[in-house]
Amino acid sequence: MATEYSKPLPVPQPESDHYWEQAAMGKLVAQRCTDCHEFQFYPRVFCTHCSGRSLEWQELSGKGTLFTFTIVHQPPHRGFAGDVPYIAAIVELAEGVKMPSQVIGIEPDPEALSIGMALEVVFEQATDEITLPKFKPALQ
Ligand SMILES: [Zn+2]
Repeated sequence: MATEYSKPLPVPQPESDHYWEQAAMGKLVAQRCTDCHEFQFYPRVFCTHCSGRSLEWQELSGKGTLFTFTIVHQPPHRGFAGDVPYIAAIVELAEGVKMPSQVIGIEPDPEALSIGMALEVVFEQATDEITLPKFKPALQ
């Protein structure tokens, strides 16, 4: 077991179990509607575009761009005290869905970041059950 992870963790729900299982194996997946073919994130029991209930899982490229970000200086929980400042971001994935995450591997400096910059997924194992997809600048 990973040692003493001190931050709040996602609590898998039946509709998201597959997402977390795949993340633990280093795969980023999202639901896609078999009726209207739209992707959606986060996992739900129905399609948010057409309300259909025929959803399938597809592996994503892991490539995306920085949609927006903020640099967090005040830890929202004591577990983050050693991490500040860090970059909380919304990443727009190549498949069109937007995902809240964290950008790592770059200084948490507004001068170093630009909206639209290319990012790619990396996986950070938090516990035996939970691996968190995060993003780093993509190699050009
Ligand atoms: Zn749909």
